[in-house]
Amino acid sequence: MPAQPSARAGQADIVIAGGGPVGLMLACELRLSGTDPIVLEQLPGIDETPKGNGLVGQIVPMLDYRGLLDRLREEATFAGPVPRFSFGPLELDFSRLGTSPVHILAVPQRRLEKVLEARLTELGGTVRRGHELTALSPHDDAITLDVRGPGGDYRLRARYLAGCDGAHSLVRKQAGIGFPGTTSPEISRIGTVRLPTAKLTWRGGMVKIPGIGRLKLMGQVRTPRGTYSLSPLTVLDKNAAAGVFIVYTGEDDPTADLSAPMTLDELRASARRVLGGDLPMTDPQRLTRLVANTRQADRYQAGRILLAGDAAHVFGVSLNTGLLDAVNLGWKLAAQVQGRAPDGLLESYHAERRLAGQHAILQARAQGALTTIGQGGSDEVAKVSPEGAEALRELFGDVLEHPEPLQHVRELLREPGQLRHIGELIEGSDVRCPMPASDAQPHPLVGRLAPDLQLETRHGRTRVAELMHAAQGVLLDLTADSAVAEATAPDQAGLVTVITARCLTEPAPAAALLIRPDGHVAWAAGPGTPDPAAGMNTALRTWFSPRTPPQIRP
Ligand SMILES: Cc1cc2nc3c(=O)[nH]c(=O)nc-3n(C[C@H](O)[C@H](O)[C@H](O)COP(=O)(O)OP(=O)(O)OC[C@H]3O[C@@H](n4cnc5c(N)ncnc54)[C@H](O)[C@@H]3O)c2cc1C
Repeated sequence: MPAQPSARAGQADIVIAGGGPVGLMLACELRLSGTDPIVLEQLPGIDETPKGNGLVGQIVPMLDYRGLLDRLREEATFAGPVPRFSFGPLELDFSRLGTSPVHILAVPQRRLEKVLEARLTELGGTVRRGHELTALSPHDDAITLDVRGPGGDYRLRARYLAGCDGAHSLVRKQAGIGFPGTTSPEISRIGTVRLPTAKLTWRGGMVKIPGIGRLKLMGQVRTPRGTYSLSPLTVLDKNAAAGVFIVYTGEDDPTADLSAPMTLDELRASARRVLGGDLPMTDPQRLTRLVANTRQADRYQAGRILLAGDAAHVFGVSLNTGLLDAVNLGWKLAAQVQGRAPDGLLESYHAERRLAGQHAILQARAQGALTTIGQGGSDEVAKVSPEGAEALRELFGDVLEHPEPLQHVRELLREPGQLRHIGELIEGSDVRCPMPASDAQPHPLVGRLAPDLQLETRHGRTRVAELMHAAQGVLLDLTADSAVAEATAPDQAGLVTVITARCLTEPAPAAALLIRPDGHVAWAAGPGTPDPAAGMNTALRTWFSPRTPPQIRP
């Protein structure tokens, strides 16, 4: 149907399809970089369906780098590095490492979305709610978008389109981008329900249920017929009522009718099969049914179209990866539309974030395979999918050939280096962004999130996280004589914020750091390097260009 003229019709530099967490985060990043994206969201309000209950990974320090962590902390039951974390059926004990590599922010997804939308409003942006992108057609210089809004259909012409429209992304499909991967035969069912706690016996993280016996609380537990988890809601939401639990079941269920609405009877029947007895659930508040997909877009960019979040990858707990996609893309896309992007800047988004997505999928598949193996019988090993087996091989060698594979992985993880590596994989910090080398031997921090160093500047004390709130590039000179700041080439002056400071964190990991707007180190000089500025101007030119930004069209 041809689009009708509408007051909303017009042109835009950037349109974001989807105002979920990733679209909102991208919109905030783009506003911080001086652009004015249009965000199209088909839903009239924030989605109240239960989804994520928390963020796991590097996005937690990254939210601190944007000044958002404190606001979210107010709503969270936990924020910070965790001493223990589960990897499939295994519990990882990071207390042995001194510092935990895994960060958590236990906050329900809808609250995260509310905070991000409020931040977008503060930054002068809005979401066009009730506006659905219905079709797109790419041209050499723009993309035509057909939109169905509350006031009728209209047409937009955008220079760039970011598809943040979730797993079933229309943008991805219409851009012809493949989404290869696997769909597991396992059906997950999740319900927020009331359990009669007065009749339950609590002891040591276990709960005794008449007719079933003792069940473990929190974490996924394998039974002969599937997996379950039982989590008191108060652990995730401090305002929740006592006695309310999130009940999860996972089982192979080829008879499930995926088109029918999920009911409490369906959850009851699944719990009976998985647990071997009746779970006395009442008062269902939220019920969801999920099919486990592990898929990744074969390209994150097709010309003027980019994908981020679930539109680019699905593998379960994927908010960390998705929100970090948005942080990586925002400043690059802004520089592109403002005409100040060095060659290849926007293309580096695909290279950096597709690699990160591959690592995230690898660890998700390895966790799934370990859960399948359960307690180590040969029957379970035979059920591991080819992708799961491949992921285990990549991380732990020929573990499946061991008579007790799960026990073997447990022993491997006693080694601190291996434990840290798996922790970093969960965090998403194992991936070093592939950076063009400006030095023959790049500093170990290059390609990684800059550490949150404590600093003394002439304006007082600060830290790296605070310097990154504005999402601008920062050249941090920690030399005693400001040698790096003074060696900045005149044509590079003003491209980044230059800060000279004394490093209060000991030992100082570097004499100078060039930090990109997404918090990643583009270049660094080691402490005690004779010519600390060498390579710095090359790195500046690689990531920042002095061309004057054109006026943004209204
Ligand atoms: C039950 C469940 C539990 C989960 N638990 C966790 C967890 O604990 N931790 C974690 O990290 N992740 C979890 N996840 C995954 C997490 O919810 C997703 O990774 C996250 O929602 C992805 O965000 P997104 O913005 O990419 O996509 P979405 O959240 O899917 O948002 C996409 C948005 O685009 C809109 N949209 C779609 N098409 C159009 C269109 N054509 N026009 C306009 N708007 C459109 C949609 O309405 C939606 O608002 C869970 C998911 C589920 C389902």
